[in-house]
Parts: sequence; structure tokens; C-alpha cells
Amino acid sequence: MKSFLKELAVRTGGRVEFRDITREVEEAIRESGVRSGIAIIFTPHTTTGIFLNEDESVLKRDLEKTMERLIPEKGGYMHDEVDYNAYAHLRSIILGASLAIPVENGRPMLGAWQSIFLAEFDGPRSRRVYVKVIGSD
Ligand code: ZN
Repeated sequence: MKSFLKELAVRTGGRVEFRDITREVEEAIRESGVRSGIAIIFTPHTTTGIFLNEDESVLKRDLEKTMERLIPEKGGYMHDEVDYNAYAHLRSIILGASLAIPVENGRPMLGAWQSIFLAEFDGPRSRRVYVKVIGSD
């Protein structure tokens, strides 16, 4: 069994941004040499998230608007008295910090329209994403 870890460095460019990292994850899986197994995509931050969906620009704007409606930036949160980014923490909690994706034939088993995204809610910043790949060659 192989076990491989790669750290991706992502410099986000906006306060809120949905960044497609599919290509970098596919590359990490290729580097791992794992043909059959599982890939865990994990972000170690409290104001980012990881999710799967279609990389389509209008849909990303819809997601941004929906997040603003569900968890508005100015929501009178108590954490804003500590650090003005409560909305970013709350959106991160809703999305979650990791995904597990099956790997077969050295590739993630994504659907035709699925891309892997890092969601930034408190950028721009330097962010890390870990890709852990476990399986057999
Ligand atoms: Zn905070």
C-alpha cells in the first residue's frame, strides 16, 4: 500500500473566491503512483471550505449570492467583536473542510461536470490544501 501527501499552495485573489483546484489534485494523484485507492482533499483553515460542483462562472456568482443571503457578511455576529470575519467561519462550517474521492486507474472518479473547489471567504490570503492519497499501485 502506498501513502502519499502533497501540500498545494493557493494564493487567493479576492475576499470571496471559488477556486478550481481539480488540475492540481489530479497532478498530485498522478505523482502519488496510486492506481486504486482514495484521495482526501483537506484545507486546514477555519475560513475556507472544500466542495465539488460545476466550474461555470454564472453558477459561481449564484453561489456567492446564495451564501450572502444565507450567511450575510454583516450579520451582527458576536465573533465580529473579536475578529471581523464571523460570516467567513460560519460559511466554512456549512461547506466543510474536506472531501474523500475514490481513485481508479490513477484518476479521481469525478463526474463529467464535477470540479474540486477551494472556497475562500476571508481573502486574499495564502492558503494550503493537503492532498492525501492512499491505495495500491
Ligand atoms: Zn475569526
